[in-house]
Amino acid sequence: MNGATDPPPLAAGCAEPPARAFDVALLDLDGVVYVGPEAVPGVPDALARARTAGLRLGFVTNNASRTPERVAALLTGLGVDAGPGDVITSAQSAATVVRERWGAGAAVLPVGGPGVAAALRAAGLRVVAGADDGPVAVVQGFGPDVGWQQLAEAVVAVRAGARHVATNADVTVPSPRGPVPGNGALVAVVQAVTGVPPLVTGKPDPAMHAECVRRTGARRPLVVGDRLDTDIEGAHRAGVPSLLVLSGITGAAALLEAEPAQRPHLVAPDAAGLLAVHPPVVSDGGAWRCGGWTVRPGEAGALQLSLRERGGFPDGGSGDGLDGLRALCVARWSRPAASGGPARIVATDAPARRALDRWGMAPG
Ligand SMILES: [Mg+2]
Repeated sequence: MNGATDPPPLAAGCAEPPARAFDVALLDLDGVVYVGPEAVPGVPDALARARTAGLRLGFVTNNASRTPERVAALLTGLGVDAGPGDVITSAQSAATVVRERWGAGAAVLPVGGPGVAAALRAAGLRVVAGADDGPVAVVQGFGPDVGWQQLAEAVVAVRAGARHVATNADVTVPSPRGPVPGNGALVAVVQAVTGVPPLVTGKPDPAMHAECVRRTGARRPLVVGDRLDTDIEGAHRAGVPSLLVLSGITGAAALLEAEPAQRPHLVAPDAAGLLAVHPPVVSDGGAWRCGGWTVRPGEAGALQLSLRERGGFPDGGSGDGLDGLRALCVARWSRPAASGGPARIVATDAPARRALDRWGMAPG
């Protein structure tokens, strides 16, 4: 594995499957293990095989709506064995922050699903029902039933002096019908009315990943997530390598334009990438190669993508359909700081055109 800057992440790949190269996977849940109520196809089986290969699993979620017990039961029901101690939620991290600042027994108004109030109680805080109870803080986390009344109560409390604490700021959560409003969108409603920026305690703050490393005693942890601005940035801040999966919020085009602090070390279609070899991206005097794919600089800063050799994956490629994207990312990230907007990608042969189409990237 290489560092976060030079050469770019993704360039080194991973010569053996991550399930063997790392000892603990710190797995995000929404968009990684499940999307909405359904498991990502094949992922429960892949995680079981990763465990057989020696990888231990910890679950680190910005979704505050469920208690660790509920999350563990949900995972087990989807075919991923898990106990409450294997789960760290952003509601727990928010409760820890509030207790450290205001002490056990402090009055706190929860906004969100049952996981928020449960985490506050478990941390020894006093859960109150409304702004009139004089809370020192409002802890706001995701809950699909949050509506106007809870938001109004939060606004009144914050305007009366309570600190607005957000378990996370994810604007979206993945669903089978595409992105839908996440906690960050509802936190923004409160902020728009109060004018007070919230204290955000979930990912990308490194506390949750650090807690998971501490609990598991991980020596070679790997963060697995679907969001650049929480999972991957949080991994960078915790000093842990990361695997981005494309089964959730992030698509190929967003990955290509990722800021340096949000670039993953590995990328895979989904968490089954824990079982696959990740080929390196090799640079040889102006071209970048990965598997059978080549990227060359084109006119006016464009990047030209082609499948160099016919007949599949002649250079030990991964076979997961992302080798061209790996080469594009390293080429893009090797250029000076992104300027002039998104890179223009030019497909120079039919396989490249099909690949760009598959990744949802309009050919230049
Ligand atoms: Mg996620």
